[in-house]
Amino acid sequence: VSFGFEEVTESEKVARVKGVFRSVASRYDLMNDLMSAGVHRLWKHDAMNKLNPQPGERHLDVAGGTGELARAFLDLADKAGKRRGIDAKATAIVCDINDAMLEAGKARADNAKWNGRLDWVCADGQNLPYPDRSFDAVTVSFGIRNFADRVEGLKEFRRVLKPGGRLGVLEFSHMTAPALQAAYDTYSYNVIPRLGSLVAGDRESYQYLVESIRQFPDQETFRAEMENAGFSRVSVTNFSGGIAALHFGWAV
Ligand code: SAM
Repeated sequence: VSFGFEEVTESEKVARVKGVFRSVASRYDLMNDLMSAGVHRLWKHDAMNKLNPQPGERHLDVAGGTGELARAFLDLADKAGKRRGIDAKATAIVCDINDAMLEAGKARADNAKWNGRLDWVCADGQNLPYPDRSFDAVTVSFGIRNFADRVEGLKEFRRVLKPGGRLGVLEFSHMTAPALQAAYDTYSYNVIPRLGSLVAGDRESYQYLVESIRQFPDQETFRAEMENAGFSRVSVTNFSGGIAALHFGWAV
């Protein structure tokens, strides 16, 4: 499998990806804001609205990092419950392979507010420690491109989803206008590693992130991968001209 420009074994990729996120954990949210001028928050907001969280549901956020999506899920589910006078509380689990990311998230999350409804679990998204049909919704944002075997990951998400459960995958993707792709490539290859070096003191990790984005399949190819893994009616929503895309599908 590839890790940036290099070919490595699957276990080597897992170890190196861990190293990347251990290194960037403490500056992770700040770097996201700087790299995307804050726009990643809007993409995540739109993605969670599309997922349509409901009271009483169980949500798993794979590669959840600092837990932004899980908290959004609980917020939106509570709002939906309030509108309809339903008291049942949703619960969410942030699962990440990297304890440094989870610790950074825990330190920031208002855990008291969630009163045991928000859990943090260190596990590999390709091998989830949950029985079949455990969740109503699974999300992965900016995480699946780091998996050693993406297709295995998708199958695993389907396994833990209840029939009719939904999967939302938010990931960097490919620009829909080829002319813009050139400008975006220039930005990402030149500016992002430099920002990484300045803000997080780590140029190499950001170089890897840029390269892993370039290697991720385009919208239609990834849609087919989701369908092959057992998701139906997969829809694609492009954000900011395809810099990111949300793939949404139903587990059947
Ligand atoms: N979802 C968060 C967000 O959108 O801000 C974090 C995204 S961050 C770019 C990628 C995350 O994927 C990191 O926290 C990393 O530790 C995690 N990760 C990478 N490979 C993983 C795997 N195989 N299983 C679980 N998490 C993984």
